[in-house]
Amino acid sequence: HAKEDGRGRHAFFEPGMREEAVLRATMQEEIRIGLRGDEFSAYFQPQVDLRTRKIVGFEALARWHHPTRGTLSAGQFLQFVASSSVVKLIDRQVLHHACKALTLLQGTCKDLVTVSVNISTEQLSEPGAADEIYGEVLLAGAAPRQVRLEILETTLLGERSPKITENVRRLAEHGFQIELDDFGTGHTAISSLLNFPISRIKVDRSLIRHVDCDARLQTVVHTILELGENLGIDVLAEGIETQAEAAYLALNRCGSGQGYHIARPMPLHELKAWIVSRERQQPAPMAPVLIQSG
Ligand code: C2E
Ligand code: MG
Ligand code: MG
Ligand code: MG
Repeated sequence: HAKEDGRGRHAFFEPGMREEAVLRATMQEEIRIGLRGDEFSAYFQPQVDLRTRKIVGFEALARWHHPTRGTLSAGQFLQFVASSSVVKLIDRQVLHHACKALTLLQGTCKDLVTVSVNISTEQLSEPGAADEIYGEVLLAGAAPRQVRLEILETTLLGERSPKITENVRRLAEHGFQIELDDFGTGHTAISSLLNFPISRIKVDRSLIRHVDCDARLQTVVHTILELGENLGIDVLAEGIETQAEAAYLALNRCGSGQGYHIARPMPLHELKAWIVSRERQQPAPMAPVLIQSG
């Protein structure tokens, strides 16, 4: 133990950890500079009704167009800014891009669609965050009812939860749709469904991958679908990568889905073209497939 053997003061600076701390500080500084230099944007991933295949919305995901390293996805850089104030700046830029996209796509989509935006624990812990988000959305010319705010299960249950609870309630009062992201990976998910005004659950991709052929996953996913149905909460399946997964979910009455099988996250101009070409080909309903018995 560091303290007992008298090395307590130095334990923190052991080689691996020191490098990590330096890397984190360097990346945070680079991200701050990048934010000022307009290097951040959002990519958009379509969400479709699994039965009719109609577009129901899209999720905005942070992307960093790094001057030398190319385009980095959120999963590649968010780890460096976790629990720092920088993540709030990223959230805000993505929210702004998302609202702008919504207004630009208004004429492109036949039906009313929504945009989903990921909201960090850091942002939700800030007093007054709900009113600020509301103000920004109005300023960008978007309607709160068309904006879904994605919150992680773990965010709702953290130690800062009173402030978070207050913000979530206020956001719902402002007309935003609140959705629970990565559902099935946290611990007390079911009680949070009752305590918060949740309009949609996003089932984590770890439960969707191979759901068409894994009986244990099927049991879990069925339970979530039934829970959603009984509580009047929509269910979206994340990370659909194959036709078989999509067909299985459609057949088992999972409302909507998102994943590489449908489309990858893409820049706004590509999304526009994707919507246009998709709405041109009158989409046929998903072909049913035989379900493997448990
Ligand atoms: P998430 O919200 O669960 O978003 C889904 C992630 O899975 C995205 O990664 C997306 O590109 C990826 N994905 C989508 N379909 C598939 C699929 O079929 N297969 C696989 N293997 N992956 C798929 P990304 O963009 O790297 O984002 C990672 C996470 O970072 C997000 O997970 C979200 O929690 C967070 N994030 C992204 N943008 C923001 C943001 O603006 N603010 C905050 N606070 N967090 C963000
Ligand atoms: Mg998300
Ligand atoms: Mg997710
Ligand atoms: Mg995730």
